[in-house]
Formats: sequence, C-alpha cells, structure tokens
Amino acid sequence: MPELIEVLSKEDIARRIADVAETISHDYRDSNLALVCALKGAFVFMADLGRAITVPAQIGFLGVSSYGKSTESSGKAVVTKELDLDVTDMDVLVVEDIVDTGLTLGFIMDYLTSKGARSVKVCTLLDKKERRAVEVQVDYACHMIPDGFLVGYGLDYAEKYRNLPAIYHLKL
Ligand code: 5GP
Repeated sequence: MPELIEVLSKEDIARRIADVAETISHDYRDSNLALVCALKGAFVFMADLGRAITVPAQIGFLGVSSYGKSTESSGKAVVTKELDLDVTDMDVLVVEDIVDTGLTLGFIMDYLTSKGARSVKVCTLLDKKERRAVEVQVDYACHMIPDGFLVGYGLDYAEKYRNLPAIYHLKL
C-alpha cells in the first residue's frame, strides 16, 4: 500500500500564499497582469493565489506535461492544451505547482515569449531547487522542498491524489 506522509498542512500553504500574493500585488500594481496556470498540477494553487492577488489579472490555462504516469520526468515537455488567452504585450506570471529539473518551466517560458508576452516571471508553490538540471529563474517560491515525490493540492501520481487538501510525500 502506498504511504502518505504530510509535508505541508492546509494552514502552512494558506499562510505562504497570503504573503506571496501580497508581494505580487505590490510588484504588479502598474502592470497588465496575466496569470497563466500550468495544468494540471497548478489548478488548486491558481484558484487560491488568484483570489489572494488584489490587482486586476487576466487568467489563462496552459497544459504542459513531462511526467506521464511515473514519478520520474521523461525529460521532454509537450503541450497538452494550448493557451486559451492572448498574452501579447501582457506581463505574464506563470503559476506552477512545482519546479524540479526546470525543464518544464524552461519550455513554458520559451512558449510564452514566442506568444508575444512583454515579460514572463514565475510563481511556484513548491521548489525542489537542489534537483535543477537547467537554469531557470523562479521569481516567487512559496516553499522549498528537498527531494521526494509529492502529491495533493493539485499534484498527482498517475492522476490520483490531486484532490487532497494538503501536500504529502508519497512512498510507493
Ligand atoms: P521539471 O520539468 O521541473 O522536472 O518538473 C516539473 C513538473 O513535473 C511539475 O509541473 C509537475 O507536474 C511534475 N513534478 C515534479 N516533481 C513532482 C512531484 O514531486 N510530484 C508531482 N506530483 N509532480 C511533480
């Protein structure tokens, strides 16, 4: 039976989102902000972060996948759903669930730049900084996480566990 060990509680998550949203609201006070949610994992984070940001923001969804059904990245990101928002001349903030090797984020940054965004920055809920394989700039990170495969609060394992309200370490 897979074992789930809580790593971040609902309260831990909410507290950091409030802080980071305040910083983002300040930094983007004079911008044309577009929040781009990296599907599927960031959908819960997007809903909470988006509602905590106090400046007007457009919202778009982009599907990118690099994991398939395993706990290891395939090393190659693919678009699973095209962006549903025109980001030309917008100040885009990518809303990510987790940055691990950085490959997915690098791919997303290139994709958004090619769509004509004025600026592209990144806000991630979780950052596994020690595992970076490519250099990517993370502008806002809520929680630094050491190695280990995490699920819950939008994150899955083979499409399971996304609806858990907190974040857990999955031991298979
Ligand atoms: P990267 O391309 O940075 O290696 O991986 C980023 C993507 O891989 C994330 O958006 C997420 O979908 C997935 N990922 C990376 N680490 C984890 C993890 O610990 N748990 C889950 N569920 N997904 C992860």
